[in-house]
Amino acid sequence: LVRLRSRLARSQNVFGKTMLALLSRDKLDDDTWDEVEETLIGADVGVAATTEIVERLRERARVLGTSSTSELRKLLADELTTALEPDMDRALKASPHDGRPAVVLVVGVNGAGKTTTCGKIARVLIADGHSVLLGAADTFRAAAADQLATWAGRVGAEVVRGPEGGDPAAVAFDAVKRGTETGVDSVLIDTAGRLQNKVGLMDELGKVKRVIERHGPVDETLLILDATTGQNGLEQARVFTEVVDVTGVVLTKLDGTAKGGIVIAVQRKLGIPVKLVGLGEGADDLAPFEPAQFVDALLG
Ligand code: GDP
Repeated sequence: LVRLRSRLARSQNVFGKTMLALLSRDKLDDDTWDEVEETLIGADVGVAATTEIVERLRERARVLGTSSTSELRKLLADELTTALEPDMDRALKASPHDGRPAVVLVVGVNGAGKTTTCGKIARVLIADGHSVLLGAADTFRAAAADQLATWAGRVGAEVVRGPEGGDPAAVAFDAVKRGTETGVDSVLIDTAGRLQNKVGLMDELGKVKRVIERHGPVDETLLILDATTGQNGLEQARVFTEVVDVTGVVLTKLDGTAKGGIVIAVQRKLGIPVKLVGLGEGADDLAPFEPAQFVDALLG
């Protein structure tokens, strides 16, 4: 939590400070509420969610007849936490079962942080005593497989890669096969994020998924989303949810944006829980997403 706060603080400070300044005004008039609304929209919460949050906050403040800043902060924290849907199941399904490794498919546009996140997740699993194999199914750029291999070396995971330009599905198949044969606990498959057209993507990811399923089910399909790309990135990412059955979102680069409200928009628009957040480029810069803690860090 301390790290979450310090990492977010660098970029989120403005949001929390602006909010608290608004809520500590002597009079909460229409103008003030408009500014609260603008601040939330500015933080990428999204228009619909913002409207709801502000309406409820206003109503509760009115009913309670409260003007104390700390009480208002509490009400706001409460509304933001509710908007973050604290009851969603955020457990990462990355533990072996039925004598098979857990298989995690990692998808998202190029540059979102897929490879980095694979490395970070491997680090967490290995620290928990699991063995991990990383499959480099992004065969289009040699650099991508090299980068994944570097991560594997750094965190102590095995890596399976194919020839450059080879079939991504073949690599995914080999990775799960090897993981199954050697009794690895978790297999993480890094994929290519080329988004030129939906049909191509669907063909490619669909095939990757189908060949993996010859060994057994995909336990978790994680969509990696760059928080700094805001609402546009969200629209782009939606394609992935139409192509594969995404079970969780990892929101990366939250350390580099003042728009942490994007988490609310993501869950609301995609209907998929944010399970993890990326807070930097290092191996340990990954945290489970916990709504109440996040709101606390956000408000400073
Ligand atoms: P991929 O193309 O989706 O595999 O993306 P990469 O894993 O190669 O990441 C793209 C860039 O984003 C790299 O420079 C990473 O170091 C950086 N990156 C990934 N996650 C984070 C994060 O949580 N915070 C920050 N600041 N940078 C990140």
